[in-house]
Amino acid sequence: MIKLPVYLDNNATTPCDPRVVEAMLPYFTEKFGNAASRTHSFGWEGEEAVEYAREQVAALIGAGPKEIVFTSGATEADNLAIKGVFEMYASKGNHIITVFTEHKAVLDTCHHLERSGGEITWLSVNGEGLIDLAELESAIRPDTVLIAIMIANNETGVLQPIREISRIARQHGVPFFTDASQAVGKIPIDVQADGIDLMAFSAHKLYGPKGVGALYVRRRDPRVRLTAQMDGGGHERGMRSGTLNVPAIVGFGKACALCRQDMELESHRMASLRDLLEKGLLELEETSVNGSRQHRLPNTTNISFKYTESQSLMMGLQKDIAVSSGSACTSASIEPSYVLKAQGLGDDLAHSSLRFGLGRTTTEEEIRYAIGRIRETVEGLRKISPLWELYKEGAKLDNAGWMRGKED
Ligand SMILES: *Cc1c(COP(=O)(O)O)cnc(C)c1O
Repeated sequence: MIKLPVYLDNNATTPCDPRVVEAMLPYFTEKFGNAASRTHSFGWEGEEAVEYAREQVAALIGAGPKEIVFTSGATEADNLAIKGVFEMYASKGNHIITVFTEHKAVLDTCHHLERSGGEITWLSVNGEGLIDLAELESAIRPDTVLIAIMIANNETGVLQPIREISRIARQHGVPFFTDASQAVGKIPIDVQADGIDLMAFSAHKLYGPKGVGALYVRRRDPRVRLTAQMDGGGHERGMRSGTLNVPAIVGFGKACALCRQDMELESHRMASLRDLLEKGLLELEETSVNGSRQHRLPNTTNISFKYTESQSLMMGLQKDIAVSSGSACTSASIEPSYVLKAQGLGDDLAHSSLRFGLGRTTTEEEIRYAIGRIRETVEGLRKISPLWELYKEGAKLDNAGWMRGKED
């Protein structure tokens, strides 16, 4: 017996692992001290817990504990990295390179800087969702202060070639920042081997609590400096003031330790369930996977069910399966995914896509159930779709091109 609805939206957020909750609990009540209180044992206890968590978080990404700045999540870490570098290196220049398919937290931060004197180069992606390294290299200028490119896309799971990106960034002496919210905990990341200078990630994407995340800031070879975006008591070595959320940080640390321990097994399990889901769904006609199937996360697939609409699909499924179209932040809107459009998808295909994010709690039984329900729903919608009928009559709408007319 499976419990409905089946949760397949782990890229939006993950449940807190019960072992994480257990680790956090004492820090709400008996161990409630302010980690910045230096004058008594309550404070020392809090500080000790935070420093232990800092080591757990750092260990997952091959960083040193002093390179971890705790924030309220990846959005804040994105803002701190981009605005912090932009302000700190103002005397060098005002140019930032990023990509059209970044998360809104990066895109909108860059837009913000564009309105306050920054110059942004927006790189495009190919049909697989990958950037062109030559295009990246030729976009670098003497006044470039940051390259901001995510590791894994939240909608498609597509992985950018970060080692090549960091090599190029290094050669030109430009700091490389990556939003790794979807990657950390799912695939091995080593900030040394991967050449990452700044990296944002979030606890609630890796079975930790919401409202806590981190920015990795490289301390040597080269040392990266930032202007604080939150001024105050000078917490987090002056980079992020504000009383630390001790219970959440403890949970984040525990969540990272669990990911580190289980990653290898779990990523294989995830990939085989994801492949099972994909295989089952691709048996439907006119159904396709969006983005590179070679370079992507083990837990994610994004599929277009042509001649249906994501909105109707999700409505038909919502009692039984929790999925989304695009990202959680934009799926409330009717606009098709900007990520899929950037990959060259027409409105029709972008409008008919669903994102599946598998997780630690996903079972094979749930996947088999999901395949059946989704197929049924897609077939039901197509049965009442005039476009599907025309397609079936061989009207070759796609070739006529009038459905795609809008974006040409
Ligand atoms: C979820 C997510 C964010 C936002 O993280 P929060 O901790 O919720 O602020 C940023 N970037 C990516 C790629 C994400 O998936």
